[in-house]
Amino acid sequence: MLNLICHNLQQFHQLPQGSLSPDINAGSTFTSVCINTAIYLPWLVSQCLNNGVIFKRATFKHIADAASSSLFQGQKINLVINCTGLGASKLGDVLDTSVVPARGQIVVVSNVADKMIATSGTDDGADEACYVITRAAGGGTVLGGCYQKGSWDSQVDRGLATRIMQRAVAICPSLTGGKGIEHLDVIRHGVGLRLVREGGARVELERISGVRVVHNYGAGGAGMRSRILTESRTTADHARLSKLLRMRAGCCRVGRGSARLFVQNLDMTGCEEFGN
Ligand SMILES: Cc1cc2nc3c(=O)[nH]c(=O)nc-3n(C[C@H](O)[C@H](O)[C@H](O)COP(=O)(O)OP(=O)(O)OC[C@H]3O[C@@H](n4cnc5c(N)ncnc54)[C@H](O)[C@@H]3O)c2cc1C
Repeated sequence: MLNLICHNLQQFHQLPQGSLSPDINAGSTFTSVCINTAIYLPWLVSQCLNNGVIFKRATFKHIADAASSSLFQGQKINLVINCTGLGASKLGDVLDTSVVPARGQIVVVSNVADKMIATSGTDDGADEACYVITRAAGGGTVLGGCYQKGSWDSQVDRGLATRIMQRAVAICPSLTGGKGIEHLDVIRHGVGLRLVREGGARVELERISGVRVVHNYGAGGAGMRSRILTESRTTADHARLSKLLRMRAGCCRVGRGSARLFVQNLDMTGCEEFGN
């Protein structure tokens, strides 16, 4: 995927000033990769299932509890992978106070944009954003957004939703054929909390109460795409992790979506072994 992104970024062009509206200082165009997470995440789950991974749901008070859980019917757990996101701030023996939410709000519409657009800021406040992303392989277009650091509010702000739609239609008239936001076909409104960690994502090994733990959380608003970066950051640890995962024993991952790192780089190694 890194190769694909590098290849596409070679098509990077600065837009001529004359082609921009007067309120825009500078613009660029490039091709990029769009991940439709509604398709990608179930695909990751199917890859895991195919490789013998067993999924169980549980809430842990302490990270080490994942290793002693009766969930695994006596199987010894040698490695716990901590992908708890914002939960890392409340999880016993982790209690990472540098993890904070950065609230995002989106509107998903069935209208299709002819390009992906993102701006570096808006005139509606420092914590508001403007992006238009038509999902790969269908599923509508995501209009965003905002970046409200410290806010845990999970409710849709209707005023903000209207501003999001107004900005999207203004910067991408093709969404509604040049008409107003009343011509947007809203599928749903969404709110999500990015898991921001002051100082950057935590990707490291630690031994807690005698249990080997791999932390992998705090990628902020880049958890999907940073899979590539976390892969390279963990290269040094890769041999050690692979060795651990090859120990022909249990491996418990606490958390949901971060399968991206371990499915592609590490988990499969372990899963193959578990299947034997
Ligand atoms: C509005 C918005 C826009 C975004 N845009 C992008 C983008 O353009 N590109 C990009 O790459 N990324 C983007 N992201 C970020 C991306 O969605 C996240 O980085 C990614 O979903 C994080 O996945 P995760 O598995 O690490 O954490 P999460 O998805 O937060 O999963 C953590 C899991 O851990 C579980 N958990 C927590 N505590 C416990 C416990 N004690 N016991 C058991 N389970 C526990 C939770 O229930 C949850 O299921 C965006 C996020 C938002 C909100």
